Amino acid sequence: PYVVTENCIACKYMDCVEVCPVECFYEGENMLVIHPDQCIDCGICERECPAAAIRPDTEAGLHVWLDLNRHYSGIW
Ligand code: SF4
Repeated sequence: PYVVTENCIACKYMDCVEVCPVECFYEGENMLVIHPDQCIDCGICERECPAAAIRPDTEAGLHVWLDLNRHYSGIW
């Protein structure tokens, strides 16, 4: 799946939410998150994000962010 990371915290845009074909964005405490089991890996949101906050989970060092995305997407 794709993962929302720290650059999202200061971002006020919702472009990612609007383009996601499966509506798997959720609101975290101070940022948006992606439900890792619902994301279909299309990559559209990564290209739309003006803050470059969305990255594929195959990138190194994203485990903490993946856990956070999973946690907050399961709350609502
Ligand atoms: Fe939605 Fe595609 Fe982004 Fe996954 S990669 S969150 S399915 S827009």
